[in-house]
Amino acid sequence: MSKHHANFIAGEWVASAEASRNVNPSDTNDVVGEYARASAADVANAIAAAKAASHGWARSTPQERHDVLRRVADEILARKDELGRLLSREEGKTLAEGIGETIRASQIFAFFAGEALRLAGEKIASVRPGVEVEMTREPMGVIGIITPWNFPIAIPAWKIAPALCYGNAVVFKPADLVPGCGWAIAEIIARSGLPKGVFNLVMGRGSVVGEAILKSRDVHAVTFTGSAATGRHVAATCAGRMAKFQLEMGGKNPLVVLDDADLKTAVECALNGAFFSTGQRCTASSRLIVTEGIHDRFVAALSERLAGVVVDDALKAGTQIGPVVDQSQLDQDLDYIRIGTQEGAKLVSGGQILNRATPGFYLAPALFTEATNAMRISREEIFGPVASVIRAKSYDEALAIANDTEYGLSSGICTTSLKHASHFKRNAEAGMVMVNLPTAGVDYHVPFGGRKASSYGPREQGRYAAEFFTQVKTSYILA
Ligand code: NAD
Repeated sequence: MSKHHANFIAGEWVASAEASRNVNPSDTNDVVGEYARASAADVANAIAAAKAASHGWARSTPQERHDVLRRVADEILARKDELGRLLSREEGKTLAEGIGETIRASQIFAFFAGEALRLAGEKIASVRPGVEVEMTREPMGVIGIITPWNFPIAIPAWKIAPALCYGNAVVFKPADLVPGCGWAIAEIIARSGLPKGVFNLVMGRGSVVGEAILKSRDVHAVTFTGSAATGRHVAATCAGRMAKFQLEMGGKNPLVVLDDADLKTAVECALNGAFFSTGQRCTASSRLIVTEGIHDRFVAALSERLAGVVVDDALKAGTQIGPVVDQSQLDQDLDYIRIGTQEGAKLVSGGQILNRATPGFYLAPALFTEATNAMRISREEIFGPVASVIRAKSYDEALAIANDTEYGLSSGICTTSLKHASHFKRNAEAGMVMVNLPTAGVDYHVPFGGRKASSYGPREQGRYAAEFFTQVKTSYILA
């Protein structure tokens, strides 16, 4: 019997009747653990606890907030190897990626520990004599946090840390598929000195736990990362009851490669951006838009690199790409590979299931050429190790193709031309632009987010996080 990981409600560990089995995608015989599935009543208790505790935490000192966040950051860092291993075991990204993401989570908590000491207001002269005006930021109250499975420690960190930093109470629901890292963060927070009820963990299904969070009038703001379809539902439900919400959703990110690009740089950007983390990143470059003069050399060099890439057990030394997260995501990837072929794109590399020493969801990274931007494989988010090369005649055409998408998260270009790089930075319709860098892979102290169907609401991370996690008050006083 594996350990039952309980929910954390009002400062207590609360077992549940139902549990999920967290299975290792590199070896489906390996069960990471059993994780509680909260009922609607559990969620109501968590929200009530958060509401009751929120007033006290809203009045906590910057030092208290700093100390809690700092302790969490320090423990995550001290346990980076163990937590990184848990991450790779439950999600399937390589151990190096798992440890890297864990370090990132620690850095985010440390950043917001510092921010807790720096929260400032503004005071300006009134237009009326004798009156003073000041603007202050106050907590929102209770924040509902709903996260996806693909960054099981970093995304919870970049929502929980600012929520607590700015004086809010939290009800946190990790992805049902991958709850292990969320539970581990909760266990660390439980020992951090945070008053009871300020942080609550409710694991389980979106249809039960997520819905209960969205619908509760006592949840004042919801921060969501996940698919565009669920995001629209979150938006409609929150707007219906006038709750604040913030959405980070999918992408169909372009990487433009121009004739004058450094070939090696372009190939490494494409390989990393499209296929690392098994392509399961919202910022993955699934559209490689390549101009005529470099097209064939680029395809040949990328195919050669792909042929040598090691796809294997995420925990094994030397693995460069781990398995797909589960059977249903693997089925979706294979469906799109079939669709791409039917649409007339040419599969030049990978796309087949791989057998390894253990039963897992191994897929050879798939590269299409001769794709057009009208094909479904170029328009819909696949969320797997699948990318297509689209030919462009010129920089102008490449830019137009890059922007011709309903999404707008991250947009990249490989070029040695300052003129084109500068023009692309100004004209790419995306929240983040990368020049000679992969579309995925960002800093933690600056804003993260997109445009169009990729994002809605204020940016996450860095100092911009205050926009979502606080509300502004303007006070006037006749002195
Ligand atoms: P998902 O939308 O299926 O689930 C996300 C979360 O929402 C999960 O916790 C899920 O349980 C919950 N949920 C599902 N139904 C719900 C409902 N009715 N009410 C409330 N909550 C509900 O997404 P996923 O498959 O876990 O993650 C993959 C998606 O996340 C991809 O589209 C990817 O692009 C996106 N993503 C975006 C970013 C970003 O920052 N833009 C980052 C990572 C992942």
